[in-house]
Amino acid sequence: VKEPPGEFELIARICAHLPQSRRVVLGPGDDCAIVASSPEPLLITIDSMVEGVHFKLEWGTPAMLGAKALAVNLSDIAAMGGIPTICVINLAIRPGLDPRFFDELYRGLGKAAVAAGVAVAGGNITRANELTITIALLGKVETQPMRRDSARPGDKIYVTGTVGDAALGLRILQNKIPAAGSARDHLVKRFLQPTAQIAPGRKLARIKPPPAAIDISDGLWQDLGHVLERSGVGAKVESTALPLSAAYRQVYGDNRDLALSGGDDYELLFCLRPRISEAELSRRLGVKVGCIGEITREKRALLVSGTGKPAVMRNRGWDQLRAT
Ligand SMILES: [Mg+2]
Repeated sequence: VKEPPGEFELIARICAHLPQSRRVVLGPGDDCAIVASSPEPLLITIDSMVEGVHFKLEWGTPAMLGAKALAVNLSDIAAMGGIPTICVINLAIRPGLDPRFFDELYRGLGKAAVAAGVAVAGGNITRANELTITIALLGKVETQPMRRDSARPGDKIYVTGTVGDAALGLRILQNKIPAAGSARDHLVKRFLQPTAQIAPGRKLARIKPPPAAIDISDGLWQDLGHVLERSGVGAKVESTALPLSAAYRQVYGDNRDLALSGGDDYELLFCLRPRISEAELSRRLGVKVGCIGEITREKRALLVSGTGKPAVMRNRGWDQLRAT
């Protein structure tokens, strides 16, 4: 069994890949990092990627893994309308991985951090049974943060981009659903290399009052449920309005199960007074925006489709997608 590199050797290798910024007064190498304080409110988030739970090494490259570990955190900052600034990383390493693996992992992570303007202020390395990358990320808000608890009856519900692609990509990687060619490539890429919607989130947060918003990490239905619960409202969603990619339709046809329940898309869902058209919102945010339904006073979520009777989703147990 290959032994992982020693902690100090690894830290030295890793630091070579990582960006710094002026806000970091003292970076990696001391007991703590020192960060200059700022007048804006701070956003703080943390997320882990665990081998066997969130990824398998054979699915992609170490560089993709490093970039995704940051992207899932960037997405939480995007959901608040924030600007990501500084992170710290905890890396749990297991035997069997050689130093080049970590070089590649941190090259991917470092490149993603540079692209997002994030400095890596420090971190920790520990030994464990599973490879785990945990990142705590700080961000700042320019004006008002977008929260989950501000949806109001009469708001329209919008999503950016398309939904269900990453969940389908995961099932393709797991050999549960067959796919080939460019549709396969697109869906698998959506799972392995997600993009956090930082710029659209910042633009959304400038709307007054700021929309209620969440990023779609657990699946559209469940994440919408979090907004409804926190806001004390209900929703009516039109299933035929869920935005599907051409690749999704090609591989999965008209089945909307994964568009509703599949996670890992890292698109934004937001609720807004219906004052701005979809076309105008898309233009302003620089991404495609689709209206999927509206917020209602009655505290339950209805899924309706042009034909057939509506399915009612209970307002308890949002995490279980069950029609009653
Ligand atoms: Mg989130």
